[in-house]
Amino acid sequence: MNSARSTAGGTGDRTFLGMPAFPQAAARAVRDERLRANLRHATHTIRDKRARAVAELADWAQLRAAGKAVKDHTLRHLDRYLVQLEEAVTAAGGTVHWAADADEANRIVTGLVRATGEREVVKVKSMATQEIGLNEALAAAGITAYETDLAELIVQLGDDRPSHILVPAIHRNRSEIREIFADRMAAWGRPAPEGLTDSPAELAEAARLHLREKFLRARVAVSGANFMVAETGTLVVVESEGNGRMCLTLPDTLISVVGIEKVVPTWRDLEVFLQLLPRSSTAERMNPYTSLWTGTTDGDGPSDVHLVLLDNGRTAALADQVGRQALRCIRCSACLNVCPVYERAGGHAYGSVYPGPIGAILTPQLRGTASELDASLPYASSLCGACYEVCPVAIDIPEVLVHLRERVAEQGGHQLERAAMTAAGYVLDHPAALAAAERLASRTRRLHPRRMPGPGRAWTDTRDLPELPAEPFRDWWRRNRP
Ligand code: SF4
Repeated sequence: MNSARSTAGGTGDRTFLGMPAFPQAAARAVRDERLRANLRHATHTIRDKRARAVAELADWAQLRAAGKAVKDHTLRHLDRYLVQLEEAVTAAGGTVHWAADADEANRIVTGLVRATGEREVVKVKSMATQEIGLNEALAAAGITAYETDLAELIVQLGDDRPSHILVPAIHRNRSEIREIFADRMAAWGRPAPEGLTDSPAELAEAARLHLREKFLRARVAVSGANFMVAETGTLVVVESEGNGRMCLTLPDTLISVVGIEKVVPTWRDLEVFLQLLPRSSTAERMNPYTSLWTGTTDGDGPSDVHLVLLDNGRTAALADQVGRQALRCIRCSACLNVCPVYERAGGHAYGSVYPGPIGAILTPQLRGTASELDASLPYASSLCGACYEVCPVAIDIPEVLVHLRERVAEQGGHQLERAAMTAAGYVLDHPAALAAAERLASRTRRLHPRRMPGPGRAWTDTRDLPELPAEPFRDWWRRNRP
C-alpha cells in the first residue's frame, strides 16, 4: 500500500468527526493571526470583485428573483422532476441510482468502482462527495481517490480539511502551498519540480504536471454536478480550471453523486443560473469551463455513465417550511465572503464541509441538531444580514438561523437562554409584574454586577452593561405627564 492510500484511508484529521462546538473551535481559530490575515485578504478580494461583476447587470434583481422562483417551484414539485430526470438519463444511456443516506451512496459508488476492476479514481471538485465522506469510504475499500481541482489537491496533499466552498484552501497562502507541494507530491505521484518557488505560475505548473499523469491513466472518474436538467437528463459542471473537464471526458466510467435539490426543470431555467453563479462565486461574467453531458454517446466520452441521486437529509429539510429555502443554494459562496464571523473564525470552525452562513443553516438541517457542534451552528452568526443581501437566490439566512435557534432551544439546548426567555415572556405578558420587576431592578441597581454571570459573561467581556436609571420610565411618565 503506498503512502497516498494509507493517508486517504484515515478518517481522523481529514474529516470533521469529533470537532468541538463552534465557540471552542472559533476561539482557537481567531488566535491564529496568519489564518486571519489569509482569510481577510482572500474574502475581501473576492467580495469586491463580485460586487463589481454584479453591478454590471442592470437586471440583477430580476435574475435573482427568477432564480429564487425557479428553485422554489422545482422544490415544490421535486418528486415529479426527479422522476422525469431519471427517465431522461436512462433513455440517454445512463444509469440512475437512489441513495437515501451517505452510507448507501458510498456503497453504491464503491460497488461501481469495484465492478470496473480499477483501484483508483480521479475526482472533479464536489461538495456532495465530501459531505458523504466518499474518499474515506473508497480508501477503506482499497481504492485511491485523487482530487484534481487545484485547491482540493492542496487540501488532500496537506492532509487537511476544506475551509471554503469555492476555495477549499483559502486558509493557505502561497508559501504554505509551496511547502505542501515540495513535501507531499512525491507520496502521491509525480514529485514537485526541483527548486519550486511560490510564484503562482510555478505552483500551477507543478500541479498541472502532477495531475496530467493521473488524467491520462485513470479509467474511472467521480464527479458532482452543479445542475441537472430534468427535461433532457443533462448534467452540468461549471469550473475555472478545466481539470473537471479532463475527468468528465477521458475515463471510460463516470459516476456523478448529486444532491436531489440540484435539479432544474428546463434549459431555459438553467440559463438563469449560468448567469447568477459565475458572477456570485468567482466574479466572472461566465465560467471558463461549462461542461454538459447527457447519458452516453458512442465514441465520445465515458461509455458507462452513472448518476447517484443523494438525499442524506434533504427530504427532512424540504419538510420544514422555513428551513427548506436552504435547498435553493447554488454553492456560490458569496455569503461566506461577506460574513464577519466567517472572516474571523475561518471554515474549519463550522465542523462541516459546508462552512459560513450557508453551513450554519444547512448542516443542522442535514445532520440534525443532536450533537453539541450541530446545535451550536445556528448561533454562529451576528445576524447582520449581509449574507441575505448577496445571496443570488435570496435565501433569508438570518430567518432560518433564528428558526433553527428556536428548534435547538425547544429540544433543551441552551437551557439558560430558554429559562430566561420563558421568564421574560411571562413578565412582558403581565403589566403589573413588569412594573414590579422594573422597580425592583431600579432600586437594586447599585448591587448589579458589572459583568453578566454564566454564558452571558462572554457578551460583557467586550461591552459595558448599561446602567439602569434610578426610576423606571413608567413611574417618571406618570409623575410628569401633563
Ligand atoms: S446561501 Fe446563497 S450566497 Fe450562500 S452559497 Fe448558497 S447561494 Fe451562495
